[in-house]
Amino acid sequence: MTSRRKDHINHISFIFGEFKDKSLECKYSTAELSKAINHVKPIVIGLGILYFLFIIPDSFIIKNQNTFRLILANRVIFLLLTFILYYRLDHFKSYKNYCTLILIYEFIASVFFLLTFYHYESASLLIQTFGVIIIILAIFLVYNRLIYMVLVSIILSASFLWMAPYVISDISLNQFLASAVYLLLVIAFNALSTMRINYHKRVQYLHECKLKKLATKDTLTGIYSRAAFYLELEKWINYAHRYPVDLAIIMFDIDDFKIINDTLGHSAGDKVLTQVSNIAKKCIRNYDILCRWGGEEFVVLAPNTPLENAVILANKIKEAINNTDFETLDKITCSFGVTLYNKNDDFDSLIARADDLMYRAKKSGKNQVVYSL
Ligand code: GH3
Ligand code: MG
Ligand code: MG
Repeated sequence: MTSRRKDHINHISFIFGEFKDKSLECKYSTAELSKAINHVKPIVIGLGILYFLFIIPDSFIIKNQNTFRLILANRVIFLLLTFILYYRLDHFKSYKNYCTLILIYEFIASVFFLLTFYHYESASLLIQTFGVIIIILAIFLVYNRLIYMVLVSIILSASFLWMAPYVISDISLNQFLASAVYLLLVIAFNALSTMRINYHKRVQYLHECKLKKLATKDTLTGIYSRAAFYLELEKWINYAHRYPVDLAIIMFDIDDFKIINDTLGHSAGDKVLTQVSNIAKKCIRNYDILCRWGGEEFVVLAPNTPLENAVILANKIKEAINNTDFETLDKITCSFGVTLYNKNDDFDSLIARADDLMYRAKKSGKNQVVYSL
């Protein structure tokens, strides 16, 4: 437990709760972005409308018509900007651009708030401090980098405190200090809770990645597990039902593998399994799928591959294995069954045919490729 916790601490920065590895952070935040945008959109529109609705109390408080018109214009313009942001948000694919846009929007929101504050005739420090606190809460509610959230909040609070004595004439030192302390505490508490959330969300992401790897990858060889292969083959079979595509299956099995285990031991057998899968991986294209079907049996799914090309590929793997020096062993050979998907096939019939052809290769003396449509 302790070492696992240390492992997370090594990956995640303590101050900002972000991954220290920039590429991992980029991968995480890009994956997080589309989820976040769905949350951010209603928040942004809600806050924009709320800011506009403050025109109602303004209409009771502000006596000067010019000032009222100025504040009304301020609130309308901000509402329009909010609508623009709302419709632009869906188009963001880059986390960096998204963060910058939100940062700019929050700066604009702060400036609009301070302009309204500046125009108030008889502003109260307490009420306006609450206004700043609400904006800070909103800033921390909208998904963004922690450093940006803290930055905007500090600049807003400092500008507000700097303006306060000019706008409000009778502020006592105690009131001013109390406002400053409250604002500071609100920023500190929000930053702390965001740090914790950032940290735990990234820990959860690491766990999800590990689980995904365990569910989709074979632990010994690192290639596709049988369960993940099922999903891929199912996808391709559905595709091949609708569109003309040659879907080749190559099934192969290491010959006399039991002897290797019996004479050299299980760990030497494991090493051979890893080496064979590495060799096969090098022979296939990057969109072909190599799976450990079980024990010392492997399957390749090669989309867009006619039978003759699949046979060439099977022979390429066979030769590569034959020509590899497995150190403690003289030679490793494999037997191959190659077939193509046809419209009457389902998952089981396709795999059963490949298995049958491989069995015929074994029967005919091993180390060979047997194929059929
Ligand atoms: P054939 O040429 O007919 O395929 O004979 P074979 O000996 O390769 O086949 P058999 O099915 O008799 O033996 C397969 C062996 O593979 C038996 C099993 O212990 C071993 N095996 C299965 N999974 C693993 C594994 O993960 N690691 C190791 N080292 N051996 C494994
Ligand atoms: Mg075997
Ligand atoms: Mg076998």
